[in-house]
Amino acid sequence: MTNEIPDAVPAEPITEKIALAWTHTTRFLTTASQLIHLPATDLPEIAFVGRSNAGKSTAINTLAQQKRLAFASKTPGRTQNINLFELGPKDAADALFADLPGYGYAAVAKAAKMRWQKVMADYLEVRRSLSGVVLMVDSRLGLTDLDKQLLDFVAARISSGEIKLLVLLTKADKLNRRGADAILRSTTDYLAELSTESSDVAVTLFSALKKSGVGDVALALREWVLAHRLPDAVAGAEPDQPTD
Ligand code: GDP
Repeated sequence: MTNEIPDAVPAEPITEKIALAWTHTTRFLTTASQLIHLPATDLPEIAFVGRSNAGKSTAINTLAQQKRLAFASKTPGRTQNINLFELGPKDAADALFADLPGYGYAAVAKAAKMRWQKVMADYLEVRRSLSGVVLMVDSRLGLTDLDKQLLDFVAARISSGEIKLLVLLTKADKLNRRGADAILRSTTDYLAELSTESSDVAVTLFSALKKSGVGDVALALREWVLAHRLPDAVAGAEPDQPTD
């Protein structure tokens, strides 16, 4: 028997334009205050996380090319929720974005901080459909202790390659070239600890103001989603046998 793949679908030639057309389809799906209230899904889910004020809502709106989309997440009563967005054709969504509560806001009481930790840890450790994390970090601050704590929650799944990680160094327009290079280097160095042969970890400068990095990020997320669907396509295939 030969190993021909029947009915092979030609690979979609992804360009930034196609990826941005895809992120433009982002629409609000639902909001939940607890993990158990999130709908179970087989769609690949990409979580957006970051400190309050890191530029998360602006980044989501910029990627979606919609002015107020992620600000739905800032409406009273929803700021501590997980807000889900759907992407792809209206009748055939192919991915979800999850906007997770911003953290690190100094005025939040200890009880609320504990609750945040639990929501985040639960979500990042057990959400089965989670296939990627986009961490927004203010490029002038770099990774803070809370960002590192969040990465700890998900480190094992990143190292194994189950979950991909993209760190956006936001508001890059506020840095000069030297400053940008320095933060890019120190963040890359820190993340090297999470990287293994199987992992997919990247860092990029991002500016919603200057629209820099936007196409690259859309492309990266589109590629994550297409890659995520591959295992289904070969689900019936025999696993490779060890040769010795
Ligand atoms: P969130 O709390 O993480 O959702 O942060 P926001 O998206 O609300 O952004 C926080 C602040 O940073 C707002 O005043 C934004 O206008 C500003 N901001 C966001 N992205 C950029 C950017 O690319 N460049 C600059 N200069 N400011 C930005």
